[in-house]
Amino acid sequence: MNNEKLRDCVIVGGGPAGFAAALYAARDRYDVLVLEKNGLSGGQILLTEKVENYPGYEQVGGPELMQTMQKQVENFGAEVAAGKAVTSLRAEDDVLVVEINDGDEIVRARAVILAPGSDYRTLGVPGEDDMRQATRVSYCATCDGAFYRDMHVLAVGGGNTAVEDSTYLATRFVKNLTLVHRRREFRAQKVLVEELYNAADEHDIDIKLPYVLERIVPADGGEQIDHVVLRNVETDQTEDLKVDGVFIFVGMVPNTGWLRGAVDMDDNGYIAADPITMKTSMPGVFVVGDCRQAAALQLATATSDGVIAAMQLKHYFRDPSTWQSETTAEGTGW
Ligand SMILES: Cc1cc2nc3c(=O)[nH]c(=O)nc-3n(C[C@H](O)[C@H](O)[C@H](O)COP(=O)(O)OP(=O)(O)OC[C@H]3O[C@@H](n4cnc5c(N)ncnc54)[C@H](O)[C@@H]3O)c2cc1C
Repeated sequence: MNNEKLRDCVIVGGGPAGFAAALYAARDRYDVLVLEKNGLSGGQILLTEKVENYPGYEQVGGPELMQTMQKQVENFGAEVAAGKAVTSLRAEDDVLVVEINDGDEIVRARAVILAPGSDYRTLGVPGEDDMRQATRVSYCATCDGAFYRDMHVLAVGGGNTAVEDSTYLATRFVKNLTLVHRRREFRAQKVLVEELYNAADEHDIDIKLPYVLERIVPADGGEQIDHVVLRNVETDQTEDLKVDGVFIFVGMVPNTGWLRGAVDMDDNGYIAADPITMKTSMPGVFVVGDCRQAAALQLATATSDGVIAAMQLKHYFRDPSTWQSETTAEGTGW
């Protein structure tokens, strides 16, 4: 990696959003560097062997999809550097300064596309990690609901996603759904809770309050779940429940702590962006993918964000002074 060059565009994060941005930017003949903190690029989708909702693929493994994406961006000349965690970003005159590994290295760019994604919040209960690797624990109903047709699943959580996605799973895919939440009341919006209880009139939904998931016990061989152990937090009594899968809906954590103070973000750490152009509050800096406010948290939307940001580069380079002007679909120049 040549740290002396002023890059046209540095992309932070080698996941689907970052690679889609790199593909378009490199194909437009910009000098593009993708920085990925892990030893292996590819992002969260590396964790799954089965993707069925990425257009153009009837079914594809996450690692295979991301290998193809990386090859495609490298073929167009983008450089992908793994093991490079970006730890700060600042503007000096007209140049953006990107610090890697707490200042071990510095690269400079005319524009930066932020694509560091988000991580699912985990419960940290025994068995969760092993069963996640065996793809029996999921954090995304849209991604994995279809794999649990006519089965019994446990859902965990009490916020909007937990309640809405439990209704979604119970009404479209699974045979039985048990939802546990640690409090007596859900945090989710009232309307979503009503929808869940209405769905429970017609579908096999068991709502257990106030319960927590204590443990996930694998079956012999470690490929399937044998049962889960639930605990009533008021009586402390535990019970076993046979399930085929577990959906954990306890939130996400965007990988944006290092950007606090540099770009505008909401209280949860999602970066604010103009939804038409992906521009952030910092001139020359775009945000794409799962760490963007109001992101749909899907592969197709992450790649779409990346494409949009990369297509904005030429407008920004042509006239950087337009950054703060209000954007309209017409103003994008498409
Ligand atoms: C198990 C699982 C199954 C899924 N299944 C589906 C599915 O079937 N269909 C679907 O559409 N979506 C699915 N998703 C969701 C999908 O993976 C995400 O929406 C998508 O990966 C988001 O892309 P991204 O590029 O925004 O973020 P990510 O994929 O999270 O990539 C971000 C990258 O940035 C890197 N990074 C973070 N911080 C830094 C930093 N400071 N410096 C440098 N690099 C950094 C990370 O290491 C990571 O590689 C699934 C997710 C999981 C976990």
